[in-house]
Amino acid sequence: MYIVMIASECAPAAKVGGLADVVFGLSRELELRGHAVEIILPKYDCMRQDQVWGLHVSDHELWVPWDGGAIRCTVWFGFVHGRKCFFIEPHCAQAFFDRGTYYGFWDDPERFAFFSKAALEFLSKSNKRPDVIHTHDWQTALVPVLLYELHARAGLADQRVCHTIHNFRHQGVTGPGILRATGLDRPEYFGAPDRMGDAFDRHSINLMRGAILYANAVTTVSPHHAWEARHTDLGFGLGHALHLHQDKFVGILNGLDYEMWNPQTDPHIPQHYGATSLDRKAANTAALRERMLLRNGRRPILAYVGRLDTQKGLHLIRHAMFYALEQDAQFVLLGSGSEHGINEDFWHLKRRLNDNPDCHLEIGYDEDLAHLIYAGADLLVMPSLYEPCGLTQMIALRYGTVPVVRAVGGLKDTVFDWDYSALPPQQRNGFVFEHADHQGLESALDRALGLWRNEPALFHELILQGMACDYSWNHPGQRYLDLYEFIRHK
Ligand code: ADP
Repeated sequence: MYIVMIASECAPAAKVGGLADVVFGLSRELELRGHAVEIILPKYDCMRQDQVWGLHVSDHELWVPWDGGAIRCTVWFGFVHGRKCFFIEPHCAQAFFDRGTYYGFWDDPERFAFFSKAALEFLSKSNKRPDVIHTHDWQTALVPVLLYELHARAGLADQRVCHTIHNFRHQGVTGPGILRATGLDRPEYFGAPDRMGDAFDRHSINLMRGAILYANAVTTVSPHHAWEARHTDLGFGLGHALHLHQDKFVGILNGLDYEMWNPQTDPHIPQHYGATSLDRKAANTAALRERMLLRNGRRPILAYVGRLDTQKGLHLIRHAMFYALEQDAQFVLLGSGSEHGINEDFWHLKRRLNDNPDCHLEIGYDEDLAHLIYAGADLLVMPSLYEPCGLTQMIALRYGTVPVVRAVGGLKDTVFDWDYSALPPQQRNGFVFEHADHQGLESALDRALGLWRNEPALFHELILQGMACDYSWNHPGQRYLDLYEFIRHK
C-alpha cells in the first residue's frame, strides 16, 4: 500500500508532543511491514534541521491557490531518521512557518489551512496517488474536505482518508474567511451545523468537524478516549458529530517506537540496561541526581515529564511535588508550557525550591534530559484531567519506572493498578487513582512509595511486569493497516 501522512509534527525534527512521536512511529512500523510511506510537513524555521538527512529542494515552483491569488512554495525533501519527508515552504508576506515556534499565533487556522491545501496541491501536481492519506488533528483536518470538494476533480478521486484526532480540545475554530481563502467558498453551505459549523459559535467554522464529516475513517488514540469523546464532555462539543458518524469512528491505542525508546540502546543515557540487568538502572539514577543537583541517599525519585498544560492536572502535579517532599522522596520535573502564565508559575516554584536538595524543576524542552529522567527515576506521576492516550506512561513502563496515573483515557487502557486492578496480578504494572483531587493522588502515592520502601522485592516485580508489557507499534500498526484496507475497499 502507498500511504501519505500529512501532519504538523514528526519526531524528532518537528516535535511539540505525542503527535510527533505517533507520526514517526506509525510510519516506521508501516514501512517495516513493506508499505511505502511519505510524510508531508511544513518547513518550519525552528525545526531541528540536524535531524533531517540529505535535505534538498525537490520542487522550486509549487503554486498554491490562496485567497483569490496564489502563493509560491518550495518543496524540500529529506530523511528524518529514515522516514521520507517532504517539507513545504511558502514564500509570502505572512511568513506562515517562519515564526520561531510551532504554534500559538492568532492566525494558526489560516497557517495550517494553507499547509493542508498546499499538501494536496503537491500530491496533485507531482502525480502522487497514494491509496490512503492519513491526516492528524485540527491542523490537517481540512485535507479530507478539500480533497472531496475540490481536488477529486484534479486527479485525486480515488484517495481515501483516515483522520486521527489526538486532542479534541483544539479543533481549529475560525471565521468563515477561511472558506474563501481555501477556495471552498459557500459559507451558508459549509457553515451549516451538520457540516463545519461550530457547536458553540454558529458564526464560526470548525475544521475538526469537517474531518469527522468528510474522512472515510476517524480514529482517536485509545479505545477508552473514543468512548469518553462520544459520551462525556471530553468530546468538547464534537460528541454529537461522533455519534452521527459512529460507524467510522474507532479508538486505536497509540504505539511507542521501541527503537527510539529502548533502555538497552538509548544513546541519551549513560548506562544501558534491560529487564535482566535492572541493577544497572542505578547508574542512571546517580547520573540524574548529579545532573539535577539532588543529594544522594536511599530515597525514591518521583518524576513528571510533559507539557505544562491544564490538561495535565497542573494543581495535582504541584501537589505531588510537595507531597513527595513531605514523604521524604525526591521530585524532578521537566516541562514547558505554551501559556506564559503557566510557565511563570512554574518558574516561581523553581526559584522557591532552588536550594532544596531533593527537588529540581527544569522548565523547557530537553530531549536528552527526558530520556535520562525516564531511565533514572523510580516513579512517574501523570495526574491528567484528560489524556487521549499518553505516551509518557508507556515510555516509563519501558524504562522500568513505575507510573502513578489517573484513570482517564489512554492511561486507563495502559496502566493497571497493583492492588485493585481486575486483571490477574501478574499483568498489573502501576498505580491508578480515580478522582482528580488531593486525596486520590495521595492514596496512590502512599501505596507506591510504601511498596518502594517496605517491599523492595515486590516493587522489583512490579517494575519487571511493566517492562514486559508490549506497547510497541506491532499491534496498533496492524490495526491501522486493517482500517486502511477496509476504507480502500468500502
Ligand atoms: P502530549 O501528546 O499531550 O504532549 P504524550 O504523553 O502523548 O503527551 O507525549 C509527550 C511526548 O513529548 C513524550 O515523548 C515526552 O517525553 C515528550 N515531552 C513532553 N514535554 C517534554 C519536554 N519538556 N522535554 C522533552 N520531552 C518532552
